Amino acid sequence: MRSGRKILYLLIVLLLVACTRHNPQTFKKSTVLMNTLVSITVVADSPQRAEEAIDAAFAEIERLETLLSFWTEDSEIAKINSSAGEGPVAVSPATLEIVERSIYISEKTGGAFDPTVGPVIRLWDFRKQKRPTDEQIKEALPLVDYRTIEANSAKGTVYLKDDRMSFDTGGIAKGFAADRAAGVLKEHGIGGALVSIAGDIRVFGTRANGKPWRVGIQNPRPTGGDDELLGYVELYDEGVSTSGDYERFFMEDGRRYHHILDPKTGYPADRGSVSVTVIAPEAVLTDGLTTGIFVMGPEAGMKLLDSLGLEGLIIDSEGRRYITPGLEKRIHWGNPSESP
Ligand code: ADP
Ligand code: MG
Repeated sequence: MRSGRKILYLLIVLLLVACTRHNPQTFKKSTVLMNTLVSITVVADSPQRAEEAIDAAFAEIERLETLLSFWTEDSEIAKINSSAGEGPVAVSPATLEIVERSIYISEKTGGAFDPTVGPVIRLWDFRKQKRPTDEQIKEALPLVDYRTIEANSAKGTVYLKDDRMSFDTGGIAKGFAADRAAGVLKEHGIGGALVSIAGDIRVFGTRANGKPWRVGIQNPRPTGGDDELLGYVELYDEGVSTSGDYERFFMEDGRRYHHILDPKTGYPADRGSVSVTVIAPEAVLTDGLTTGIFVMGPEAGMKLLDSLGLEGLIIDSEGRRYITPGLEKRIHWGNPSESP
């Protein structure tokens, strides 16, 4: 009798699971946050559950933007910058984490990624096509040195010693936020999702058909339309980012001035990279690393990927492709819409 009832309960539970798993569908919503297009695609069994989860993830990105923006005056990052030379600033766990993650990537890339490029970045205006004088760059350059950042994890404080220093989150904040948004979706019971914040993407789970998520890799020098793809990769629980010199730039006298600066020179990085794609377990890593590897150039960049055991693709100014063996196996060249 008892075991009969148990079996009955078990059957009901199984039936419920089958019902809730039944007919998963794909829902997508986009908005503008962090000054860019944010899109979230989720697999859910009802539009309500999808929308609730996506809206919560958007809210988390907005919260992080408020804390981490380099450009607004009331973010915690702005507070660290305005308190530079004065004293340590107590910050939220998220702010402390992005500072620590930035220092980690700076160390791994030997300073090719350096969030203290703030004073130099402020001299450039890529939208207005304004570039600084050599003199201005020379003056700002000594302030760029991630090794002088004091992050105290026990006290939860961050301090920049020189009052002219400033911390720029632009090279890493989008990946960081994509990971956090994915975390919020998981907390809302979502089993599969793709979060994209411009070129920084985090996925988990699978698509509604049970197959892995697909992310296209843009051709940095398209011959047809702007969104021409070189190919695509299938992703599991991973992040992927692409940094390129074609995202924010202006041309002057045949030279391309783009927004990824070489912290050693203060000028747009010109060690041969045109675009860098990295795949790693987290988007915070792929975002920071693509920026740093772009600066390092293809040869040093490939060595770093190898030593970190990560996958990536670097395209140089001659159109040459440098690809890690792992990615070579996974990449599908050509247009994804032409493949099943
Ligand atoms: P995007 O923001 O277009 O996705 P990136 O992730 O490569 O591109 O970040 C570029 C931004 O990072 C710049 O706009 C600037 O704010 C900042 N930055 C530029 N050069 C560096 C660097 N060498 N290290 C760290 N941050 C950088
Ligand atoms: Mg980046």
